[in-house]
Amino acid sequence: MQISQNTVASIDYNLKDADGQVLDTSEGREPLTYLHGAGNLIPGLESALEGNEPGDTVSVTVDPSEGYGERDENLIQQVPKQAFEGVDQVESGMRFQATDEQGERRIVTVTGVEGDEVTVDANHPLAGQSLNFEVSVVDVREASQEEIEHGHAHSGDEEDH
Ligand code: ZN
Repeated sequence: MQISQNTVASIDYNLKDADGQVLDTSEGREPLTYLHGAGNLIPGLESALEGNEPGDTVSVTVDPSEGYGERDENLIQQVPKQAFEGVDQVESGMRFQATDEQGERRIVTVTGVEGDEVTVDANHPLAGQSLNFEVSVVDVREASQEEIEHGHAHSGDEEDH
């Protein structure tokens, strides 16, 4: 069966940045199982997988516009240290969940600390990067009606949700 709208595909993948450094991989884990056509993967990867079958391998470079977007310098902000309640020591590289003015949750990364000023970056860590995916298609099946309604794949042993 080919990967198409409303199929559930299982894939093994390697993700490398433009310098060939591995950013993410399914190696040593279960393959990634997802509902195709529901926006569960970044657009550039999802469209590259369309029409492939188990046993196929796909190599694709996804530009930021089809990946995690361009970096937005407006998402870099200075916040006072007091904003980090209950954190003993705020350090570069720490990640926090924050809520923006629209009430949307974002992961922010601390990129600098100077005195009482903390610089946080709410860009996705992979924003602005060209992403090189190597994917092997492991399995493709029809999605169940429930999966289509939920907009995601079920593994079969989940609680009701
Ligand atoms: Zn569900």
